[in-house]
Amino acid sequence: MTIVSAGDLVAQAHARGRAVAALNVITLEHAEAIVTAAAKSGRSLVLQLSENAIRYHRSATPITRAVHSLAEESPVPLAVHLDHLTDDDLVAAAVDGPLRPLIGSVMYDAGSLPYAENLAHTREVVSAGHRAGLWVEGELGYVGGKAGAATSAHVAGVRTDPREAADFVAQTGVDALAVAVGTSHAMATQTARLDHDLIVEIATAVPVPLVLHGSSGVPDAELSRAVDAGIRKVNVGTALNRSMTRAMRAFLADDPDVTDPRRYLAPARDAMCDAVLHLLDLVG
Ligand SMILES: [Zn+2]
Repeated sequence: MTIVSAGDLVAQAHARGRAVAALNVITLEHAEAIVTAAAKSGRSLVLQLSENAIRYHRSATPITRAVHSLAEESPVPLAVHLDHLTDDDLVAAAVDGPLRPLIGSVMYDAGSLPYAENLAHTREVVSAGHRAGLWVEGELGYVGGKAGAATSAHVAGVRTDPREAADFVAQTGVDALAVAVGTSHAMATQTARLDHDLIVEIATAVPVPLVLHGSSGVPDAELSRAVDAGIRKVNVGTALNRSMTRAMRAFLADDPDVTDPRRYLAPARDAMCDAVLHLLDLVG
C-alpha cells in the first residue's frame, strides 16, 4: 500500500472532525504492533520515531528504514513521521539526507526556547522542510516531562497562549502546532486534566491543525473531549510502553526461567496492538 503524508491523514481527520493517532515506535515490536492494529481496524495512522528513540538505536537510518518498510507492506495507508527533532544533523538528514525518502513529515521541537528563538529556528526548518516537500509540525508552549527537562506543563503558566500561537503559525508557516494544554510526557497514570476551553480558543485562533503530545496521561473521556474541541493529531507513546512492560512483567513473573525473548515479546507486542486499537476507537 502507498505511504501517505501525516499531513494528508490529519486533513482527512479534520474533515471528519476527528483526530489521527500518531504512535511512537521504540523497538521493532512497537512498529509491528502498530501496523497490525492499523490492518485489523482498517484505519490509517502515523508511525513516528522520536529523536530520543533514534538516539537509543544509535543510528537513524536502519530503524527508520525498518519502520518505512513495515508501513509499505500495510494494507491501509500509513505515514512515517519524525518526532521532536532538535538536532541540526538529524534535521539535515530528514530534509535532504538519507532519511528524506523514508518519511513524509517532521516535528521540529524548539518549544523549550524563548519565543523569539523558537520562532526563528522553526521558521528556518519549516522553509527547508517545505522546499523538500515535508509537512512540518512545530511546538509552542512547553509540553513537559521529557528526560532531562526541568519544567512541566503542569506548572502554572505553562500553557500555549492563543494569540502567541496565531502569531507563531503566521510567522513560521508550520503545518500543524503542538500545544501545551495540560498534558505531560511519559506519565505512568492517566490523570492529566486538560484545559478544554483553551483548546477551543487556540483552535479558533490558528488556521492549522493542533497536536496533543503526552496523550498517554490523559483519561479516555478527556481525550475524546480534546478531539471534540479541535485536537487533530494525538501523539501516544507511553501507553504502548505501559502495555508492553506490563505483559512482559507478567510473563517473566510467571516463568522466571524463560530465556527466549520471543516468548515474552510476543504477548508484549499483542498487548501494544490492543492498546493501539483502543486508541484508534477513541480518537478516530
Ligand atoms: Zn511529544
